This record gives sequence, structure tokens and C-alpha cells, in this order.
Amino acid sequence: MSNETRRGLLFVVSAPSGAGKTTLVERLVERVPRLQMSHSYTSRPARAGERDGVDYHFVSREAFEAMVADNEFLEWADVFGNLYGTAAPDTERVLAAGDDIVLVIDVQGAAQVRRRGLALVSVFILPPDFATLERRLRGRSKDDDAAIRRRLQTAREEVSHFREYDYVVVNDDLEETVRSLEGIVHAERARRTNMSEMAERIVATFRE
Ligand code: 5GP
Repeated sequence: MSNETRRGLLFVVSAPSGAGKTTLVERLVERVPRLQMSHSYTSRPARAGERDGVDYHFVSREAFEAMVADNEFLEWADVFGNLYGTAAPDTERVLAAGDDIVLVIDVQGAAQVRRRGLALVSVFILPPDFATLERRLRGRSKDDDAAIRRRLQTAREEVSHFREYDYVVVNDDLEETVRSLEGIVHAERARRTNMSEMAERIVATFRE
């Protein structure tokens, strides 16, 4: 059964940094067909091992600000002093082609997407508790102590925003969490409102 005319679904995933959301969403898109992860633009310098166009589109602050002035972002935010944003045309291209897309963005970005009145499904990922988040942040040792403390302080504020999201998933076990995310994507795809075109086509074959 063709799926050509269906417009893709927009998923937004947020979590305090260190909750492992990027790894989770990378695994998710590997497993679910026709689901893509959005690649954000950032003015943050690439960390060791990060690749341009894969982890982020790395651009200068000036280039980023020019994109803001040209209204190219669906949403953008200043996170820890660096600018991050989702390019509207990139997202639109995926949705118009009928694929679903996941934006992995912070709570400010998610609020902007919501304010635009777009149809979206939002998921908030929580670590099992504060101590686990701290352990994970220290364990990955990407940041120095000051940066870790700043992330933890931000996390204290961010977690209360779970109330603005449609779904909440606790990231205790990686595999189980990916399975929960898969479940959310499949459930949303099966909603009657998202299935109505295909259902109408099927029902049409029953006409005498
Ligand atoms: P990091 O520098 O560790 O890769 O990301 C820092 C934070 O920026 C994370 O909370 C991440 O979700 C957020 N972020 C990444 N891309 C975007 C984006 O396009 N928009 C917004 N609003 N936040 C983003």
C-alpha cells in the first residue's frame, strides 16, 4: 500500500544534557524505517570525534546570526553560551517527503516549536534520579568540573518542564528506553488521524 501522500510526523525529544538522548535517538532512527534525526546548526566548536554534517552543521556565530536574521530557523536557542538551531527548510523537506523527523532540542527550542502551532509529538527523557545524571556526566568526562556543575544546575531547572510534554520516558536501561521510544513512534503512526488516508484507500477497495 503506497504511503506517498502522508505528511511526516514531527517528534521533539528533550532531556537534561547527560540523560543520553542523542545515543537513544540515534539507535531509534537506526531501527525505525522512514524516521530521520534532524541535524542542528550550532556555533559551538566541534568536539574531538564530531563530524560536520553528521553530529551538527558547525558554523561560525556570524553565519548562525545571519541565518537567524534570514528567518531560516524553525527554532533556535542559546544553550550554555552557544547557539543551536533547527533549519526550517531541512525539516520541511523531510516532512513533505512523508518521512517522520525527530528534533533533539532543549526545552526552550521545544517551547518555540509549540508556539508555532505545528502538530508535534513531544517526549521528555528523564534520568532515573539526580545522582545518576551526575554520575553519567562525570563518567563521560567530556567536560571539566565547572562545565559539569553548570550542566547539573541547568538540569535542576529543566526537569520541571516534563509537564509540557506528551510523553515521559525514564532512561534507566538503554535498550528498554529505545524500545519505549519505538513504541511511541508506532503508536503515533497508528493514530486514526494519521492513518485516515491509508484507511480510506483500503476501504475504497471494499466498495462494490
Ligand atoms: P551539546 O553541546 O552537548 O551537543 O548540546 C547542548 C544542548 O543543546 C543539548 O541540550 C541539546 O539538546 C541542545 N540542542 C542541540 N541542538 C539543538 C537545536 O537545534 N535547538 C535547540 N533549541 N537546542 C539544541
